[in-house]
Amino acid sequence: MIRRLLARLMPGGSRVARDPKIYGPADHPVRRDQLSGGANQVIRRLQDAGFKAFVVGGAVRDLVLGIAPKDFDIATNAEPEQVKPLFRRAFLIGRRFRLVHVHVGAETLEVSTFRAPQGDEAADEHGRLLSDNVYGTQAEDAARRDFTINALYFDPATEEIWDYVGGVADIRARRLKLIGPPTTRYREDPVRMLRAVRLAAKLGIAIEAKTAAPIVKLAPLVGNVPPARVFDEMQKLLLSGHAAESLKSLRAHGLAHGLLPLLDVALEQPLGQRFIDLALANTDQRVREGRGVSPAFLFATLLWHEVLATWTASKGRGERSIPALFAAMDAVLERQAKQIAIPRRFEATIKEIWSLQPRFEQRSGQRPHRLLEHPRFRAGWDFLELRGQSGELEGEFADLPAWWDRFAHAGPDERESLLQPDAGGAKRRRPRGRGRKRSGEPTPPGADDVTAV
Ligand code: ATP
Ligand code: MG
Repeated sequence: MIRRLLARLMPGGSRVARDPKIYGPADHPVRRDQLSGGANQVIRRLQDAGFKAFVVGGAVRDLVLGIAPKDFDIATNAEPEQVKPLFRRAFLIGRRFRLVHVHVGAETLEVSTFRAPQGDEAADEHGRLLSDNVYGTQAEDAARRDFTINALYFDPATEEIWDYVGGVADIRARRLKLIGPPTTRYREDPVRMLRAVRLAAKLGIAIEAKTAAPIVKLAPLVGNVPPARVFDEMQKLLLSGHAAESLKSLRAHGLAHGLLPLLDVALEQPLGQRFIDLALANTDQRVREGRGVSPAFLFATLLWHEVLATWTASKGRGERSIPALFAAMDAVLERQAKQIAIPRRFEATIKEIWSLQPRFEQRSGQRPHRLLEHPRFRAGWDFLELRGQSGELEGEFADLPAWWDRFAHAGPDERESLLQPDAGGAKRRRPRGRGRKRSGEPTPPGADDVTAV
């Protein structure tokens, strides 16, 4: 009770001032015309109705750092029921903590009411906050945010930045610092550990020593966070354009283990590590060039070496190649679902990319032509190229990526000349029924038993 009272009186601990330090337009580079039209409009309407309203969070931080913000979040002292009637297209979102989504043209602005940090009783046994739904003052709203540089408020009317937590100084010093005591703040929400790594990599700044120190010990708490939330955060991290660096940092802080245990397996072997490094470098480059990136492709790369290990082991036990691959894919995705809830819509694509891989090995008859027509051919081919670059493809398959490059770009006659002779026309002459097997596939020991099932 007393702790709760103290928390309300001194939100975020002693680092939070009751009155903000106000930076005028001469003291910082942010200007109102850098906000989107929608952000300016929504704030003006709220202010005209007598409320306080600011741009807050990532957008202010990015603008101070000279980075173009992804979106503009708005914080106000108006409660959702007071915000909604001010706009023609406004929708109440969320059950526990309600926000208002205001649509202006093609833009959606998230308007949230200043909220207070919660007391002890709203936490689980590890200190994780289970709800977060009490309105509060602006100082309290600053205190419940994660990092000092994420708790700045910009008022477009005056072009002032209001700073309750020393965020402007930290931006200038290029350091990422949690508001309040780091251990408590990570226990309240372990996702903040992932955010620390992601934001430091994205912004090119350092995690301050006290903020970094507890992560190694608390990393396993990420396992208590609902997998869907971890997936969202991982997706942001992987598509940030700084995935390679983020992953390196996750590993250095012991976070890769709690998060993607299967990834550890891949990273233990040089081949797997090389494959993932290449995939992430490739993704980062695409993001930075503004080209599309498929999350499914990315997750397919992150989990591939686990599939490969499971698949190879099954084949070693005598299982047939293709059924063993499908079983390995299911097993890996199922295990991973406990840590990260990869949405079903991605799962289908991930499986397609994996299951196309053995089909690239078939270079005779009609099969290569049919593979070219497959809707996921391009993704499967890109994946094959990564496997080649990482050194995974050996022996008769070492030239597969080059062969497919020629085949895909060749005219009809040249394609025919590139095809390898069908293995004795096995397709037509093969006996039907029991004992049938795909041509070109070696017979593993005990395969007949498996086939007979
Ligand atoms: P990005 O540029 O990647 O969107 P962001 O800081 O804007 O980074 P959001 O997830 O959009 O990240 O969150 C918006 C704001 O909400 C943050 O700037 C921060 O103030 C607050 N916030 C987000 N996540 C947390 C959290 N886990 N704990 C406390 N505050 C948070
Ligand atoms: Mg944001």
